[in-house]
Amino acid sequence: MRLILLGPPGAGKGTQAKMLSDYFGIPHISTGDILRAAVKEGTLLGVKAKEYMEKGLLVPDDLIMEIVKERLEKPDCEKGFVMDGFPRNLYQAEGLKKILEEKNIKLDAVINFDVPKEELIERFTGRRVCPSCGASYHIKYNPPLKENICDKCGSELIIRADDNRSTVEKRIEVYEKETMPLIEYYKNEGILISIDGTKSIDEVFKKLIGLLRGEIQ
Ligand code: ADP
Ligand code: ADP
Ligand code: ZN
Repeated sequence: MRLILLGPPGAGKGTQAKMLSDYFGIPHISTGDILRAAVKEGTLLGVKAKEYMEKGLLVPDDLIMEIVKERLEKPDCEKGFVMDGFPRNLYQAEGLKKILEEKNIKLDAVINFDVPKEELIERFTGRRVCPSCGASYHIKYNPPLKENICDKCGSELIIRADDNRSTVEKRIEVYEKETMPLIEYYKNEGILISIDGTKSIDEVFKKLIGLLRGEIQ
């Protein structure tokens, strides 16, 4: 199963990607998580990416393409993958197409999460993330069992540095300008599935599994 999750920031891509990754036993590839880890470790990639991420801008394409290319070489990707946060513009989509063609593999589906802007803001305001394993929680919609502690690994949860009002607005603007054209792009490729992302986390997941099963068989 090779999937791409598309949608505005805060739409629930990371949350569903983790669930799909467990369900299908395929790796979850989040360029955002990879970049945040690099920033935390202070690697050259992290140093370069940080200023863009803080401003809510896209990190330069050449850096991103290198990350993805390298990640797709790892043996766990032979089973498939669920990508979240990549591609984010037409250039990256074309780059991915080339990589997949070279490997002689195809995407099964691109899932587009539909969530209106007003609801995104509420999701950001309540988002808490695990700095160790990348799990994403919401103080109201998806609280951890123990307040502010990650269910999966026990780390203390944090608010993402770029989840502040002004950066969030910039990220949504960048999404509309750069990423939204990918909906049309993948519709033309005949592999786009749009889903209503305003439903509960479990409802969205159930719907996704149903659609994917129908799509693949
Ligand atoms: P969200 O889940 O809120 O959409 P991400 O974790 O995917 O956020 O991304 C956080 C930041 O990392 C983005 O605002 C951007 O600066 C950078 N980033 C992540 N993925 C990409 C990508 N594919 N291309 C360019 N920049 C990216
Ligand atoms: P993305 O990766 O698209 O930026 P996340 O998966 O991190 O989005 O979700 C953003 C926030 O919204 C998180 O706090 C998450 O717990 C919450 N969330 C995710 N899906 C839903 C949903 N279907 N209903 C309500 N809240 C959700
Ligand atoms: Zn954790």
